[in-house]
Parts: sequence; C-alpha cells; structure tokens
Amino acid sequence: LKRKAKGYEKAAKPVNMAAVLGAGIMGGGIAYQSALKGTPILMKDIREEGIQLGLDEAAKLLVKRLERKRIEPLEMAKVLNAIRPTTSYGDFGTVDIVVEAVVENPKVKQAVLAEVEEQVGESTILASNTSTISINHLAKALKRPQNFVGMHFFNPVHMMPLVEVIRGEHSSDEAVATTVAYAQKMGKNPIVVNDCPGFLVNRVLFPYFGGFAKLISAGVDFTRIDKIMERFGWPMGPAYLMDVVGIDTAHHARDVMAEGFPDRMKEDAQTAVDALYKAERLGQKNGKGFYAYE
Ligand code: NAD
Repeated sequence: LKRKAKGYEKAAKPVNMAAVLGAGIMGGGIAYQSALKGTPILMKDIREEGIQLGLDEAAKLLVKRLERKRIEPLEMAKVLNAIRPTTSYGDFGTVDIVVEAVVENPKVKQAVLAEVEEQVGESTILASNTSTISINHLAKALKRPQNFVGMHFFNPVHMMPLVEVIRGEHSSDEAVATTVAYAQKMGKNPIVVNDCPGFLVNRVLFPYFGGFAKLISAGVDFTRIDKIMERFGWPMGPAYLMDVVGIDTAHHARDVMAEGFPDRMKEDAQTAVDALYKAERLGQKNGKGFYAYE
C-alpha cells in the first residue's frame, strides 16, 4: 500500500464530463454509476451490440431502483440521458477523464490508450480499469504518462464499494487526486496502491482461484466447493464468481499474474478455466461457463 503523499488531494481538478471505453460488463457498470452520481459520461465501444448491452444493463438497474422507490421517474430519465453512447471519438475533446475498460489484453489496451490520447485534451486523465496488467507497462504506449493511472473497479460496479487507484511511476499528483475524487463522487471508497501485476486485491484473489483449480484437478466437484464457500459466509463460491467475472477475463488475467509471479502461479497454468475458455464457455456473458444460464 502506498501511503498518501501529504496534501496531494489538493491537486484534484473537477470532473464535469467523463468517458468510458468499452461498454461490456465493467464499462456499462462504470457508465451507470457515473451518471447516477451526477457525472455525464460518453460510453464508446467498437460494437453497436456492445453499446446496446451496456445501455440495457443501466436501464435494468434503474428500473429496479424505481421499483424500490429509490429514484423518481424524472431523475431516472436524466440518468439515462447522462449516458451518451457512441462508436466514435467525436466529443472526446471535452472530457476530463477517460476510463479504459476494453478487453484484458496488454497489446489491445496499449493500442487503445495511444489512440485515445490523440483525441483528448493535453490535461485529460486516462485511467485503466485493468484487473492485472502493470500500469507502468501500459504507460509505455503513451506520450503523456503523467496523466495516466489505474482505476480498478470491482464487479458488479454498482454494488462493490472498493476502487483501487494505481499510481504508476510517472503518474502526477493531479492524476491520482482527480481519480480518487472522481471515485468518491461515484460513491466509492478508493485506495491508492503501488503498481505491480494484480495490484492488491487480485494478488489475494488469484492464489485463491489457483487453490480452487488444484481441488478440481484432484477430482473435487466444483459445485461442492461453491456450496462450501457460501456456507463459509462468502456471497458466492469461486466457480460462480468466475462466471460473473467472465471466463475470458479470468483466463487473460491469470496469464498476466502467472507471468508476473511465476514462482507462485506456475503450477496453476493448466486449469478448468483453460478448458472452458477453449470451449468458448465465457460465463454469464454468453450464457454458459462453469454453470449454464437461461
Ligand atoms: P467485456 O468483454 O464484458 O467487455 C469488453 C468490451 O470492450 C466489449 O464490449 C468490446 O466490444 C469492447 N472493446 C474491445 N475493443 C475496444 C476498443 N478498441 N474500443 C472500445 N471498446 C472496445 O469485458 P469486461 O469484463 O467489462 O472487462 C473490461 C476490463 O475491465 C478488463 O480489463 C477487465 O480485466 C477489467 N475488469 C473486469 C472485471 C470483471 O469482473 N469482469 C472486474 C474488474 C476489472
């Protein structure tokens, strides 16, 4: 954990307009939460159907809030209007922060970050929602690495309070402080952490997934492990959690962790996750993973 440099919070600048790249599980959730808490947000994806999924998810969450009388109909319409779907960089010149939430692939992320850097203002902050990839590594693709940080939300975004803000070796106080302030405005509890593969939470979570993989290899039924972890008191077991995360995302993230910590993760290389990934069972996002969904 990095201790806060004294007074660095004062460097925060206001975020009046945000953008998110990728309208998937995370991008859709980030757009919803930003709009709900009063910061309008552009939501860009390369696929029209991806954008529609992001919008549908936001609408579903708002209907639930309406049913629970936690939002008025007028306010609900305002929140939906504050999510501005797009497939182009048209309005990116006006945004204060861009949260990148595209697929967990270092090369794709570097290409997307370099591309968006050309479209935004000199002082716009770029924040990656990567689960595992080193911020210093991603920063190598950028001309202004001082404007770049990690902003790691957890899934589902609207429910999970923690956000890891990752300070890379070049990240400025302004970039860190603005990202922390934006996370707080979104109703989240940010913590500032040092850079390394997996940051803080996934360095705990992936060894847990590794232990789970070893039990499956030893012949233990995964549904039993899930049930036991629920009885232990956790909201869900590891198989169900990986279906929620996305098998592709868990697979890519595991590879990044194995490369970053070969001594600790090597034995976990061949797992049920590889088999599911090869069979294109990607979890809840395509209706089948460890479990099958309606
Ligand atoms: P996802 O597969 O649901 O969504 C990714 C989206 O990015 C897709 O809609 C895809 O069309 C879009 N995309 C791909 N290339 C793009 C580009 N060049 N420009 C714009 N959009 C593009 O993935 P996800 O689960 O939302 O994960 C996104 C990121 O968030 C990953 O880095 C992942 O590691 C991280 N993350 C995921 C979770 C989780 O539980 N799923 C949790 C925390 C962080």
